[in-house]
Amino acid sequence: MRQPLVAGNWKMNGSSESNRKLLEELVSGLETKAEVLVCPPAVYAQQVRDQLAGSTVKTGLQNVSEQSSGAFTGETSPLMVKDLGIEYVIIGHSERRTLFGETDEIVAAKFNALVDQGIVPILCVGETLEEREAGDTMSVVASQIEVVLRAAGPERLANFVIAYEPVWAIGTGLTATPEQAQEVHAEIRKLLAEHNADMAAKTRILYGGSMKAANAAELIALPDVDGGLVGGASLVADEFKAICHAAG
Ligand code: PGA
Repeated sequence: MRQPLVAGNWKMNGSSESNRKLLEELVSGLETKAEVLVCPPAVYAQQVRDQLAGSTVKTGLQNVSEQSSGAFTGETSPLMVKDLGIEYVIIGHSERRTLFGETDEIVAAKFNALVDQGIVPILCVGETLEEREAGDTMSVVASQIEVVLRAAGPERLANFVIAYEPVWAIGTGLTATPEQAQEVHAEIRKLLAEHNADMAAKTRILYGGSMKAANAAELIALPDVDGGLVGGASLVADEFKAICHAAG
């Protein structure tokens, strides 16, 4: 019942020329039952959206402000995202949390701001290696999610995506084993079910962290893994396309 979602997180990479080529190669011969999304840097969102018009691939963003407008130099408003017709925005990525000081409370405010504009948040959560080794994986992930769920309130929880991204697997070439991924995904779904069983059954939980063509099929086939949030491999058309095909 959950359509797989494969989302490419381009991070701070690309140029108008390389974007154009990457998308051209990506859409040619792409055939998948999965929903496919690419999230370029904000400055290229319009270019990407325009080039993807008429294809099934959607455009998302990597971050958003929790504010609507005003004196917030350098920020992008959810109203602007909506104005561009963009449906999805990644929030709470571990790079935003560690490099830009985003707290759970800030992430929760962004979640609410997006939902209030009808935009679907992709909420990233995940533990560091230290936290995993200390046996704290689930308590860390649960508290990252709980803060958002509590701030959102039941009425805002109709449509969102969670991306479980172990920090130690992001950009490192280390991928969670299928057992590790399934264990955390199942726990996340259980936690969602404590709020609302229906929501838990329909919310997509993506895996992220060194997903590539070689491991995507095995990960996405897991019962509680509903797709992937793909960084490095989303910058290589054939690799990303192979992940989309592996998703169904
Ligand atoms: P990676 O990044 O696929 O390069 O590990 C994933 C992410 O940061 O979303």
